[in-house]
Amino acid sequence: MASLYSRLKTQIAVAPTRVAVERSFGLHGADAEQMCATFEALNLGGFWSTDAAGRIGYLSAGLLAALVGDSDAAGRDFVTLFVRPRAGIDGQRTLPFVFARKGRFEAVIARSELDEREIVWSVSGEPIVDGDGEFAGFRGHIVDVTRDRQSAEEASQLATTDALTGLLNRRHMTNILKRTFAAFAPQRRPCAVMLIDLDRFKQVNDTLGHAVGDTLLKQVAQRLIKVVGDKDRICRLGGDEFQVMFPDVEDRGRLGDVAGRIITMLSEPYTIEGNRCTIGTSVGIAVSPYDGETADDVVRNADLALYAAKHSGRGRFRFYSNEMLESAEQRRHLEETMHDALIKGEFELHYQPLVDLASNRVVGTEALVRWNHPESGLISPALFIPIAEESTMICRIGEWILRKACEDAARWPGRVRVAVNVSPVQFADPQFPRIVATVLMATGLDPDRLELELTESVFLQEGEATDAMFKSLKGLGVRLVLDDFGTGYSSLSYLKNAPFDKIKIDQSFVRGATSNDNRNRAIISAIVALANALGMDTIAEGVETFDQLDMVRDLKIGMVQGYIYSKPVRVEHLFVDLPDEEWVIEPEGPAKQRHERRAMFRTIGVIHEDHYYPVTLRNLSQSGALIEGLLDVPIGTPFMVDFGEGQFELATVVRSRESSQGISFARDLVSDGNGGLCTRHRFMQHHLVAAGVPRNTEEFLTKQAGLLASGKISLPCFSVANRKARREQALT
Ligand code: C2E
Ligand code: CA
Ligand code: CA
Repeated sequence: MASLYSRLKTQIAVAPTRVAVERSFGLHGADAEQMCATFEALNLGGFWSTDAAGRIGYLSAGLLAALVGDSDAAGRDFVTLFVRPRAGIDGQRTLPFVFARKGRFEAVIARSELDEREIVWSVSGEPIVDGDGEFAGFRGHIVDVTRDRQSAEEASQLATTDALTGLLNRRHMTNILKRTFAAFAPQRRPCAVMLIDLDRFKQVNDTLGHAVGDTLLKQVAQRLIKVVGDKDRICRLGGDEFQVMFPDVEDRGRLGDVAGRIITMLSEPYTIEGNRCTIGTSVGIAVSPYDGETADDVVRNADLALYAAKHSGRGRFRFYSNEMLESAEQRRHLEETMHDALIKGEFELHYQPLVDLASNRVVGTEALVRWNHPESGLISPALFIPIAEESTMICRIGEWILRKACEDAARWPGRVRVAVNVSPVQFADPQFPRIVATVLMATGLDPDRLELELTESVFLQEGEATDAMFKSLKGLGVRLVLDDFGTGYSSLSYLKNAPFDKIKIDQSFVRGATSNDNRNRAIISAIVALANALGMDTIAEGVETFDQLDMVRDLKIGMVQGYIYSKPVRVEHLFVDLPDEEWVIEPEGPAKQRHERRAMFRTIGVIHEDHYYPVTLRNLSQSGALIEGLLDVPIGTPFMVDFGEGQFELATVVRSRESSQGISFARDLVSDGNGGLCTRHRFMQHHLVAAGVPRNTEEFLTKQAGLLASGKISLPCFSVANRKARREQALT
């Protein structure tokens, strides 16, 4: 390869480092350069620099091979040279995080993996400021600390417990798991692994101090021991993460009970030195041999389950399922293609009207981003925004969204406003106010017509920076909106202390408030009263039906956003053909919220004697199900039901009418921790094949369902007698 080093050297951003060397040692030009070269040559570490967008400008030659291999480094995103930090763990100082903050950082640990070789790096950097005082990138030092880490680990080889909590430490637990799995595998004995992660621990640590944080962790350990019973099965992995192993346990009913008890126990308030605090807990569970045969696989899958648990709302447990691996792969794919998507212009904005309830006039819109993916079609922001937030991509995408929304809004009539969602990562970037100011200037949009929607999570960072950010944004004259109110930590004190112009009441509140439970309604009513007293506007989100609209009116909420007025639409459908520049929408929708009855359309298999039939699952409860797809099944017929992924349960037909049957399970199903159900036990492929179950049942089911839907085959008749009778009937 034509030396990348020499190419990069021409754009050396390292020059200012040399200036520093010259000053401190009184060296001159060539000497200083020589010193830097010696430093690099002695493998004492290397230098790197990036531009403002985080792309590599300079990288010491010695590091190229270790970090990049043969491929080209110029122009690559610096943070992508390292393994992506584990998602879902709050508050770690990771490279993407410190990059977003654009401030000085020291000794951030990052890992790289190249050709199976893992290297641990310590990375430090400081921002480069150009002549106009603008952020122009980073410059810094990087050093391989793999060996130091190893010797530190070797030094603690003898220690088997975690000094703080007295639980097993990570290394020791890993050894135990490896030994257990190796011993259990030949006998096919099961073993479950549970990963436990605390929610909001970082907040406690930051607000009450590390000493309180440490005491809290000790109390958590005590509670864990109480639930699990055996101290020698519990490990503190580090930080606020714990791991528990359950040898010879595969019953998901039992595991779910334990996980549920852990969540309840750890969520009880703690009293520490007179402080009362509460934290939440998420749990991921995987069980060998179904979810993997080796300790590594099972732990990785428990980790995916933990990720899913954290993202399905806090305070949940989840069992690993194959879909999680697929969605992890999908996430990786989206992450890899996101950078190009922005360049190729695959993002687009849709706008949803914000309507004044009294006059039905559109007074603003909310910009909602979509990714028009060449293969997958329109991808929901709920899917890709969280991925973008794990890297610095969110800042670039966010800036594009802001610019596009302001450009569009500048063309709209009158004083119509545009609301733009701001990610907490963008909010943490000290440059954010400057970006907003630049966009406003470039597009000529009156700042008062721009609303920035923030969620409560912005309050989870250090207080001072947050206050300063609020100040500088307000200083620009833009309006601030508290989004999703009622979903997060929902402290009314946020409303009093932060300069919001408007609060947006979350859809879940609107939805809940028309049901029988009147508590929601009382809470909204109190929030609206407080907002009115503080001079803030109020808007209700997700209004779909007339009874919800009436309720919103009764509660004196001024504005509405929801399907009852309009879904989000493309920009060309906004403000067209308006003679007096007023866009009035008449509400349209159902009178009442239909009660959400979970109608299911999943295809599953049932086995009777030697036949394997596809049926549609219409309804599922712990003790039974309603299935459809077989004609005339006699009451009392025994079935083996195949729910997929090795989940089988015995059932008996208890009701039967034409093509639908009510079946009752031999054993109750158990909670899957996420509002669904699963079987207690599972069967491995080899059990099934030995029992004569067709190997590719999933393929078979999908194919049959397709044929049925296209009318190429008709519903199978169950009993031979019936089949004969029907055929005769058809002939006459
Ligand atoms: P959000 O900010 O709470 O946005 C409102 C979401 O509710 C939108 O979903 C909208 O289409 C949907 N919605 C509005 N009215 C109704 C209704 O009557 N019924 C129902 N069922 N849904 C309704 P969408 O567009 O899928 O966005 C989902 C989330 O993705 C947003 O929630 C926001 O958190 C995030 N997001 C969307 N666009 C952006 C963006 O430009 N930047 C950032 N950072 N996040 C975005
Ligand atoms: Ca929003
Ligand atoms: Ca919202």
